[in-house]
Order: sequence, then C-alpha cells, then structure tokens
Amino acid sequence: MYDVKSPRAEEFINHDEVLETLAYAESNKHNAELIDSIIAKAKLGKGLSHREAAVLLDCDIDEKNQEIYRLAEQLKKDIYGNRIVMFAPLYLSNYCINGCLYCPYHRQNKHIPRKKLSQDEIRQEVIALQDMGHKRLALEAGEHPVENPIEYILESIKTIYGIKHKNGAIRRVNVNIAATTVENYRKLKDAGIGTYILFQETYHKESYERLHPSGPKHDYAYHTEAMDRAMQGGIDDVGFGVLFGLEHFRYEFTALLMHAEHLEAVYGVGPHTISVPRVKPAEDIDPDSFDNGISDDIFAKLIACIRVAVPYTGMIISTRESQQVRERALHLGVSQISGASRTSVGGYCEPEPEESRTDQFEVSDRRTLDEVAHWLMGMGYIPSFCTACYREGRTGDRFMSLSKSGQIQNCCHPNALMTLKEYLMDYASEPTRQRGEELIRQEVENIPNPKVKEITLRNLAAIQNGRRDFHF
Ligand code: SAM
Repeated sequence: MYDVKSPRAEEFINHDEVLETLAYAESNKHNAELIDSIIAKAKLGKGLSHREAAVLLDCDIDEKNQEIYRLAEQLKKDIYGNRIVMFAPLYLSNYCINGCLYCPYHRQNKHIPRKKLSQDEIRQEVIALQDMGHKRLALEAGEHPVENPIEYILESIKTIYGIKHKNGAIRRVNVNIAATTVENYRKLKDAGIGTYILFQETYHKESYERLHPSGPKHDYAYHTEAMDRAMQGGIDDVGFGVLFGLEHFRYEFTALLMHAEHLEAVYGVGPHTISVPRVKPAEDIDPDSFDNGISDDIFAKLIACIRVAVPYTGMIISTRESQQVRERALHLGVSQISGASRTSVGGYCEPEPEESRTDQFEVSDRRTLDEVAHWLMGMGYIPSFCTACYREGRTGDRFMSLSKSGQIQNCCHPNALMTLKEYLMDYASEPTRQRGEELIRQEVENIPNPKVKEITLRNLAAIQNGRRDFHF
C-alpha cells in the first residue's frame, strides 16, 4: 500500500503507485487541458505532486514543452537569481566491499589500484583545492568498515576544517558516503557537515538488487530509508540523486519525487539538493551495458521538470557532463556545479597515469576552475563560493523559509558577490578578475535593500584591503 508517511521504503516508494502514476501520465500526455492546468499550478512556484510532474515529463505537445522550459528558467531566476554555487569532490578512499555493477570501485575489480588518503595526504589535496579557490567540498568514499570506518571520515572532516593556508579555507564539507546508522549520522552532524548526500542509484527494487548483487548496499530498504535515519540523526540538509541510465528515467523521476514528498510529509523538509548524474565510462565499466541511457534532450526535459516540481530544491550537475550539456542545464534549473574535479583518490596533487587509473568515472568537463568561473560570468551568472547558510544555522526548513520569503536578493546575492570578490582577489587570472569586477559593479546595483547594499559595498572594500570571510 502506498503511504507517503510510512517509515518503510516499499510503502513510501510504492511500486504500484509508481506504475499507476506512469500509466496516468501516459494516458494524459496529449491532454492539453490538464497540462495547461498543471503548468498554471507550477507557475505559482509551490511545486507539483509526483502525478502532476509525471504528466509534464510525458507531455509530447511541442508548444507545451516549450512553455515548461520557459517556466523552469523563470522559476530558476525568481528563486536563485543568477548565482551558481561552486564545489569540488574530494575522493578519500576507493576501498569498497560492495558489488555495484556500474562502479569501478566494486569489490571484484582486482585491477584497480586501491588507495586511501592519509591525513597528511588529505592536507595536500585540500591545499591544492584551496589554491584553486574552492571553499566547499563533497567528500566521497567507498564503503569499507575496516579501511574507511566512520572514525576515518570524522577525522578527515576535522583535518579539512582545520587547514588554514594563505587566505584559503574550506568552509563547508558535504559528505557522500554509504548509508549508515542514526548514531553515525549524528556523529557526522556533530562534525559540522553541510549536506549528507546519498544517491539512490535506482528506486526500482528489483533492478536495485540486481545492480547491487553483494555487500551491505544490496539491502534496498536500508539504502532507501537512509535519509530518514539522517534526519533522525539531526541532519536536515540531505541530497538526493539517481544514477540515470540504470533504470527507466520515467520510473526514477516519479519515485524521486515520491521520496521528496515522503521527507516533506514526515520531517517537514524535502531534499536540500538533487543531483542528476548519468552513468559514465570507467575502468571496467561500459555504460552501454546498461539499457536505459538517456539522450541529452531527455536529460534536459528531466532537469526542467524537476525544477518546476520542486522549485526550492537546489540542483547539482557534475563534471560527468560536458560544457555544452552543463550550459543547457544551467538555464533549465541547475543551481550548483563542480569545477576542475578529479575523481581519483589523490588526483588533485598528482593526476593518475593512464595505466593505473583510480578515478571513479571519466569527467567530460576538464576545464580549470578559473575557466569555469570565466565562462559562467560570460553568460551573466555569478559564481558563488558562499557557505553562509549552514554556518548561520540556516539549514532544513530555516533555509527553505529564507528562500520562500524572497529575501534571497538581500542575503544570498550579496554573499555571492562578496565571496566572488575574495575569489577574484586571491585566485583568478587577470581576464577573469576583470570580468568579475565588472560583474560585481553591475550586480551590487541589484541589491534591493539600501542598508544591505551599503554594508555589501563596505565589505567589498574591506576585502579589497585584505580582509576575508564576510557574510549575511
Ligand atoms: N560509495 C558511496 C555510496 O555507496 O553511496 C558513495 C560515493 S560514490 C563515490 C558516488 C556516486 O558515484 C555513486 O553513488 C554513484 O551514483 C556514482 N557513480 C558510480 N559509478 C559511476 C559511473 N560509472 N558513472 C557515473 N557515476 C558513477
């Protein structure tokens, strides 16, 4: 039985409810009247139910699809303005006891060199990331109770927050590690993590079990109920994701939204972010061996439909995608991107030679952070290195109420400008710095509250004079 509030995965991601939703969407994909009414509801910016959103995803009336794309772009502008939050992944360890068929870290892979960073190596990696200008990291690790126990992750977080090198600092550490216990989530919360990220990979139980044939990750319910445990452990910013290509995208889209509705119904707050990874080639992995790869057009439609369905949830696209795909995604709703990522353990200090690859998957966007920032600003976006919300305790529903109150232009926008200014002063190349200074000059004028504008101008001048770390 479908029950949005049930603690059981099979009830809040109820297979029959997904199938009924897909049948409903299929039978209404030409229903112009219904589609118009759903678009009208989406325009209110309060989101859609999984059934309504599934109809938009299936809609095959070209003119209505164009309207969905325009609406996604408009909602993105209204809620996030032109800020794009920047981050980088940091791979701590590729030791893993799981058997995930799509991931080169799987236990049976005997030819991938296994590596785990020591605290000293973490320091070197973080300094390399700080020297690029990064302030926000996503920690990544395989699941291995002996090599990467929770104590190792906690020690690594402490090390990272403790590194002060020139003007650099990592101010927000997000964590992407395997599903764990409420007790461990509480420890992560106490260690000061930002978002806890866990990709569902696929919501389709049967496929999930086939794709995860061995290891703790085989347990569908334990994995799918992880976000509930994270919430119970006090983490109220959680990040969802589906690995597109494994199962049919219509199934994943519907179930993803059902998962968001579940968290909202039980804990009063939905996911902080949704990531949209697609399966990529990797050592020992051929994406074509999975049947459900999606085209760039379907990918764009998915992003637009997620944007209109959950307008207040940040959306993340990684360097798995090319510059071109990322550019389109930014217009349709993506609010966070990674830059200059290395997906190998230790890859920021020493890029892996081809013959001993430890990277998790191939990245498509290989540009430097400076190039990414320059490109973003050329399109009128503000690369934001802001980490203020979680440092000010604006997490979970407190973050949601800030974004829903429309105060983003008086808070996140000036924070983006001040952190961009720091980036320009400390790390940018001359052309990027010039482009950024001009952008800041224009954008300060868009701060509505005169008092906030005055403080921002004062802080920008202080940053110019060598001071750092201002935020609202
Ligand atoms: N090991 C942790 C877990 O079990 O959730 C998470 C860390 S893993 C390093 C991060 C994510 O990379 C996985 O959740 C998966 O979605 C993604 N991934 C794995 N193999 C991939 C591939 N070949 N292409 C693209 N993404 C992949």
